[in-house]
Amino acid sequence: MDSLNAMNKKICVLNDKKTITNVFWTGGWDSTYMLIKLLKQNKTVQPIYVIDNGRASRNNEMLAMAEILKHLENLGGEVLPIVQININEIKENEEISNSYKNLCKKVRLGSQYDWIARLALEYPGIAMGIEKPNGEFSGCLAAIEKTGKLIFKDGVGFIDVNHSSQDCINIFGNVCFPIIELTETDMVKDIKEWGLEKVMKNIWFCHAPINGIPCGTCRPCQQKMECKMNFLLPPKSQLRYKIFHLIERTIGKSSAKLYSKFIHSHYFHFFHYN
Ligand SMILES: [Zn+2]
Repeated sequence: MDSLNAMNKKICVLNDKKTITNVFWTGGWDSTYMLIKLLKQNKTVQPIYVIDNGRASRNNEMLAMAEILKHLENLGGEVLPIVQININEIKENEEISNSYKNLCKKVRLGSQYDWIARLALEYPGIAMGIEKPNGEFSGCLAAIEKTGKLIFKDGVGFIDVNHSSQDCINIFGNVCFPIIELTETDMVKDIKEWGLEKVMKNIWFCHAPINGIPCGTCRPCQQKMECKMNFLLPPKSQLRYKIFHLIERTIGKSSAKLYSKFIHSHYFHFFHYN
């Protein structure tokens, strides 16, 4: 009970300026946009970064966040120093892990939702950067749709405990969703209106950067271009994207894949940069 009381003390109240809003931050588009939005609402934001050594992009995410932090000072609100938590140190919880397994029987749900729910017990109300899907599958939203219900307060989504299964409450009940009603297009519009394209240029999204800049051909790079987020890719990366698509349209998918493989190879680097 004592530990429960201690947890409750950490509860963030989203609309109270004096309280701390905990957010999961990865340095990617969604979570960075969410952090900026909360700052613009004058919130005191506590970013939580979960260290997963198995994640190939870890170093890039850390670098992206360090760079972004340099530009957040004049937005309003306050960013507290990032709390880093090792994924292996998140407390086990059998009930939550069983609920995760139960949800997995009904819908394809990423393994992160097990540890996110366990960590959210210690940071109740922690904000997750899940956007409104634009046609693509979202395991999180599919699970909520099948086993529970969201309610909204000032655009922030919460699990409706009166109309959700215990499994749904166990997994999503301690998190909130401040950007779940926004599409990527809505967010791009805001970022442009706020004049923060330069800040967002530092986010991490490319799976396989070439000499430190986005490759232009991996799926996340393509998605950014498709969503009119060209400003995130330097001209060189945009050119690679255009070549990739020209090859795909005129010769075929497998040739475009070969082109992508080539530009990621040491051979390409040798001729390109020597
Ligand atoms: Zn890429």
